[in-house]
Amino acid sequence: MSLIEVGSFIAGRWVPPGRDAFVITDAATDAPVARAGDATLDMQAALDHARQLGGPALRALTFHDRARILKALALHLSERKDPLYELSFATGATAKDHLFDIDGGIGTLFVYASKGRREMPDARLYRDGGPEALSRDGSFIGQHVCVPLRGAAVQINAYNFPVWGMLEKFAPAFLAGMPSIVKPATQTCQVTEACVRMMLDSGLLPAGALQLIAGGVGDLLDRLGPQDTLGFTGSAATALKLRGHPGLLRHAVRFTAEQDSLNASILGPDAGPDSPEWDLFLREVTREMTTKAGQKCTAIRRILVPEPHAKTLIEALSAKLGAVHIGDPRDPGTRMGALVSKAQRDDVLAKLDALAGETGRICGDPDAVDGAGAFLPPILLHCADPDGARAVHATEAFGPISTVLPYRDMDHAVALANRGEGSLVASVITHDPEIARQAVEGMGAWHGRIYLNDRSSMAASTGHGAPMPHMIHGGPGRAGGGEEQGGIRGVLHHMQRVAVQGSPDHLSGVTGRFFPGSETHSGPTHPFRRYFEELQPGETITTVPRVITSEDITHFAEFTGDRFYAHMDDAAAARNPFFPGRVAHGYLLLSFAAGLFVDPDEGPVLANTGLDALRFLKPVAPGTAIHATLTVKDKTPRNDEYGEVRWDVTVADAAGDAVATYELLTMVARGDRA
Ligand code: NDP
Repeated sequence: MSLIEVGSFIAGRWVPPGRDAFVITDAATDAPVARAGDATLDMQAALDHARQLGGPALRALTFHDRARILKALALHLSERKDPLYELSFATGATAKDHLFDIDGGIGTLFVYASKGRREMPDARLYRDGGPEALSRDGSFIGQHVCVPLRGAAVQINAYNFPVWGMLEKFAPAFLAGMPSIVKPATQTCQVTEACVRMMLDSGLLPAGALQLIAGGVGDLLDRLGPQDTLGFTGSAATALKLRGHPGLLRHAVRFTAEQDSLNASILGPDAGPDSPEWDLFLREVTREMTTKAGQKCTAIRRILVPEPHAKTLIEALSAKLGAVHIGDPRDPGTRMGALVSKAQRDDVLAKLDALAGETGRICGDPDAVDGAGAFLPPILLHCADPDGARAVHATEAFGPISTVLPYRDMDHAVALANRGEGSLVASVITHDPEIARQAVEGMGAWHGRIYLNDRSSMAASTGHGAPMPHMIHGGPGRAGGGEEQGGIRGVLHHMQRVAVQGSPDHLSGVTGRFFPGSETHSGPTHPFRRYFEELQPGETITTVPRVITSEDITHFAEFTGDRFYAHMDDAAAARNPFFPGRVAHGYLLLSFAAGLFVDPDEGPVLANTGLDALRFLKPVAPGTAIHATLTVKDKTPRNDEYGEVRWDVTVADAAGDAVATYELLTMVARGDRA
């Protein structure tokens, strides 16, 4: 069978591997499968292409445009998973492992597509938080905004997740508006290359939005500039090299790293052998040791167990691990495939040697597996002196190896988990919320993620080792100090946050959103008679006044059942420091305001979907006349039929003092589609 020639895609052109390319072998059979690297790649051309073509094309799109492309890409890849699965078998991954890498990567695109549409505006600029009052009269305010960086997002990935590793970095960069230059680990880059080809062939991506380096990065890092970013996943040694690279230091290039991690899983002191948490713990640990043959940055390396249960747990866990069927990942009966290469297996065995002085081997004989490939059974170690041990807390054997460490009490467990000096994730399997609190308070500073699980959440839980795109992936210290994903947080890593100060009109002009105090205008008809695209931020109406009587308040109280004393008992209300005497219900004010500003006839306004930022600012006594001002604050298209209009509502009294303010959300039909 001819070898796959893994190309690089630089400046709009595929470049084949060079003569002395690295030969990638099948993890299970050791047969050569592909050649990659050793091509002469023009890294300056790649950067120019990204900066001059990809960046401007992406920045011309809104967040929603980019989100729609991500969704279309996800659908495109979803229909083409089989060839990726096929290629991925050669990396030692089983069909189940593919779910993490290939399906997980596509799932990440879907999540970013959805979050981009829901949580970001249909604009090119992102507002970070709300306005800041910088003057007494509100004529000078501040607002943080985020704009995309104007360079390239260079992404260097580890070998273990050739698809997910790429897509989890690409998706947030793309949504931010930054072009990506992707460099997968050479060992598994044939899978990444196939995925990149599919993405490019889809025709969905603007030119320059995605480039691929198969093999070494040459002088790329020397050429990085102040608007570029570098994201890295891999070993601590490589991270250290990159972190200290003069090119990066010179230009303060943003660098995030995700590297070694000695993740712990703690069986709570409350979880005895008869509890549902016991079985859950066994399942979680077994899955983490065997998925991807333990080659997962989030895999459990240290198993922390209450001392009295250690022996029983070791027996139960060894039985489970002993039953794991190891073999060719293509065989449907195989539960655990091979490590990626024999070199990786040698590395793991060397780490096993490093752990040998502090541990005893419970199960798993490294010499007992047949086959030409890089096979290794799950190996369970036991460390009798976790306090005296050093290597156990510092050596990441990147394979199916984990060590049981007995602990005395929760403080001891927390202290041991923290000995990892910074981890991506720790899990605590407990049914006791107090144990959960101790764990988060005690371990939070040393962990990027804490996964709590018990009988009530186990059916729905996502697994200790699965980084979810909604949640931060990264960790302090040894884990690299970086943060990836975490929903929109991950997008903002690719943007510059700018503090903008000016008048409300300046801010409205910059953001396309109405800021209180900025110019308003009236439309030709009532705003409820206008379609989504006709309404513009700043369009406003002020209603006629309505006097609130004590009969209104009594009627509202009887009708709703809310007979709270402040509305019904004048003397009791007067004893309350907040009220002058009997006052109107806040909800009465809202209801009357709606009665004042609503246009009742059937029209483009389809639904009221909620209120945000509701504040009751001043008590309203009977006899007060209130009126409402309704102003279009912001608009967000939702689909072809309607969009969301956010209205700024102020309910004020005759003196002009605001008594209630809120943002009203409505769905408004699109007239262009009517
Ligand atoms: P490496 O650190 O060796 O490689 C990671 C990536 O960096 C690869 O794409 C690699 O490319 C690239 N790279 C290596 N040297 C340089 C350099 N000087 N300049 C630019 N890029 C460079 O990690 P591996 O993927 O090989 O995994 C090895 C070890 O990393 C594992 O044994 C494990 O301990 C750790 N690891 C940890 C992970 C974690 O998140 N905790 C995840 C994955 C790995 P190339 O392949 O071409 O060398």
